[in-house]
Amino acid sequence: GGFESLNLGPNVYNAIKKKGYKVPTPIQRKTMPLILSGVDVVAMARTGSGKTAAFLIPMLEKLKQHVPQGGVRALILSPTRDLAEQTLKFAKELGKFTDLRVTLLVGGDSMQDQFEELTKSPDVIIATPGRLMHLLEEVDDMSLRTVEYVVFDEADSLFGMETLLFSATLPSALAEFAKAGLREPQLVRL
Ligand code: AMP
Repeated sequence: GGFESLNLGPNVYNAIKKKGYKVPTPIQRKTMPLILSGVDVVAMARTGSGKTAAFLIPMLEKLKQHVPQGGVRALILSPTRDLAEQTLKFAKELGKFTDLRVTLLVGGDSMQDQFEELTKSPDVIIATPGRLMHLLEEVDDMSLRTVEYVVFDEADSLFGMETLLFSATLPSALAEFAKAGLREPQLVRL
């Protein structure tokens, strides 16, 4: 049940070793083989349980390398800027021996810088929902149609018991996966 039993490629495996992780945490042991096998996973684990690496390790392993013109292939939605930044840090460390491109799109940062980041063809986007929606509206050729992996991190905060989604437009790609976290949403349009 160690990391070696996952048969990871050398890039991700060596990054794990470099990070100093010796054995997977319980949530990692349970979720990583499932994610690697390609099924959808809902995981409940408290903060500090190693949940970030639990989804990043198999995701980075499966994305493997940068795909030119491949579009955005993975989207990680975080409820807060702090969590998104923390996730970016782990993604950079665990992906350091790959050429995967990871971009942070959070509120509070310059939109202009984020437009520029998006022209560099990121494979992975780590975003807070508000800023992601805003960019989807503003950037004409930004699309989530190519996304293969979606992570709702701390989904209980992302999709609270009462989720109110207000926006000027609802880009269809966002609507598609927002549905996953909404319970019979009533769509109101003017
Ligand atoms: P998280 O629950 O994702 O916030 O992670 C909590 C802390 O556990 C972070 O500092 C991680 O770097 C660390 N961590 C994650 N996986 C492991 C592991 N397998 N062995 C040791 N530390 C780990």
